[in-house]
Amino acid sequence: MNTIPIQLFDTESSTFTYILIAPGDTQAVIIDPVARHLERDLQHLERLGLTLAYVLETHTHADHVTSAGRLRERTGASAAVPGGCGIAGADVQLEDGSTIRFGADEEILALHTPGHTAGSMCYLWRGNVFTGDTLLIDGCGRTDFQGGDPQALYTSITTKLFSLPETTRVWPGHDYQGRCVSTIGWEKRCNRRLSNRNADDFVELMKRLDLPKPKLIDVAVPANRELGLRHES
Ligand code: FE
Repeated sequence: MNTIPIQLFDTESSTFTYILIAPGDTQAVIIDPVARHLERDLQHLERLGLTLAYVLETHTHADHVTSAGRLRERTGASAAVPGGCGIAGADVQLEDGSTIRFGADEEILALHTPGHTAGSMCYLWRGNVFTGDTLLIDGCGRTDFQGGDPQALYTSITTKLFSLPETTRVWPGHDYQGRCVSTIGWEKRCNRRLSNRNADDFVELMKRLDLPKPKLIDVAVPANRELGLRHES
């Protein structure tokens, strides 16, 4: 039974979008869709004969605009978002431990993992964890805006994510070097931001990153708080 998600990529923002298909069923869920790929994503669903049950967001993105609102309009799916992200107009505001059900018997578990943003969530489904910008392959999301907090990120990753089975597949929200998937075991051993670093060292490292402000943040964050609906893509 294939439980690998379909992984789609946006070259402009290096964002991954995922389609999860219920085995033996036609229902699907999409995670972190990007506005400029609305038609591409609808075509994927149509070609595969899928009905979209939910659109999920991992957090309020600062680097791209979501198509969640438009996908909902076009497919009748429900939009489910982390409750702490200030995203108005969603059908479901998720809390830590909330579940999303689709297909005959599928369950996605929401894990509140603050740190990249205060409301960020990861989603666990059939041995796959969709980590948004909380945990990246050999990296992690930045913590310098939108309620970001390096201490909270360290705790989220080391207690919530690293306690998952080591074989759990890690599907990140971005990759900038052509990688697509990892595992919890590999990240525990090899992630250069986190392995062999205690919380104090990690906080120091994150404070020293001094990254440029994301180009789209002033457009993307307000647009994404309304599921991307008022944005012209
Ligand atoms: Fe982000």
